[in-house]
Amino acid sequence: MTADTRHDEDSNRGFTKFKSMELPRLIVVGNDALESIGDTCKELKLKGNGLVICDKTTHKIAGNRVIEILEDMGYHMDLKEISDASQREVDNIVSMVKEGFDYLLGVGGGVPIDVAKCSAYYAGIPFISVPTAASHDGIASARASINKNGNKESIGTHPPLAVVADTGIIARGPYRLLASGCADIIANSTAVKDWLLAKKLRNEPYSHYAANLSKMTAYSLINNSDSIKPGLEESAWVVVKALVSSSVAMSIAGSSRPASGSEHKFSHSLDKLVEKPALHGEQCGVGTIIMMYLHGGDWMGIKTALQAVGAPTNARGLDLCEDELIEALVRAPEIRPERYTILGNGRMDRNAAELAARKTGVI
Ligand SMILES: [Zn+2]
Repeated sequence: MTADTRHDEDSNRGFTKFKSMELPRLIVVGNDALESIGDTCKELKLKGNGLVICDKTTHKIAGNRVIEILEDMGYHMDLKEISDASQREVDNIVSMVKEGFDYLLGVGGGVPIDVAKCSAYYAGIPFISVPTAASHDGIASARASINKNGNKESIGTHPPLAVVADTGIIARGPYRLLASGCADIIANSTAVKDWLLAKKLRNEPYSHYAANLSKMTAYSLINNSDSIKPGLEESAWVVVKALVSSSVAMSIAGSSRPASGSEHKFSHSLDKLVEKPALHGEQCGVGTIIMMYLHGGDWMGIKTALQAVGAPTNARGLDLCEDELIEALVRAPEIRPERYTILGNGRMDRNAAELAARKTGVI
């Protein structure tokens, strides 16, 4: 992140605040948006050779079409299929870029976008995000989740230069991914509560503007959760807009604070603990129910909204046994300990963790 905030240390100096924020330059969302990928590259004045990063599935869904459109417009394109979001794949692509690529396009769900975003950042070239699923807020954010030595790490990068999100492609994809994206947005409701708590207890820098944008995004989805349905392009439209808005809140804050609090610690704790974790947004959604209970907020409202969009609301929905969920909760405060949340410092008491999980019906 490049955002920086100076605090007023000496009132005699007058106004001393300073901030810089980085945002995507073009966001193209809607029906048949993929067909405008050529115009988008032209508008951005991209020149030279482009490399499309995709996986086996997204190669067919959108990768081939992206290449076709751009080559028809005279661009020199190549394609690289990847299998995971590992540091090894990032290193491979950075080496490929040195051989003569000038910009990257990440075409896919989380994995190709994370890898393309991170590789572009290390190689110092522009990156365009072309999401084929709306499963988490990484589609427009400045963070990439990369596996390093078996651990998922969140890397600070630049946000994409442009986002081209075709709602038709997203609506035709597996509904589970869209429901997971909804849950990742709903998670903003507890992330902003944690942020405010950290401001009150730790005097942490806090942006009302970013917090309110994030909260508004979460509650506009919570209050309209009945309208999110499988196969409806309109639902994909609503979710993509909310994910972009969440990323903008993070860009304004200069950190992931508006969209990542205790519920994300719970999700990352599960990633470390279990062999086959559920989707990121799904885990964050269940975490949001528990954290909202700990904050004394309307956890039932969160649960109802998650049920309405078809996202998991309990251990069974995440394919976990009770003990795994409790253990993840106990260890959650150990994830990013510098990020203060309702979970406080040190491990959570096991009985308290079990009680919170039982009270909310998560186990
Ligand atoms: Zn998230």
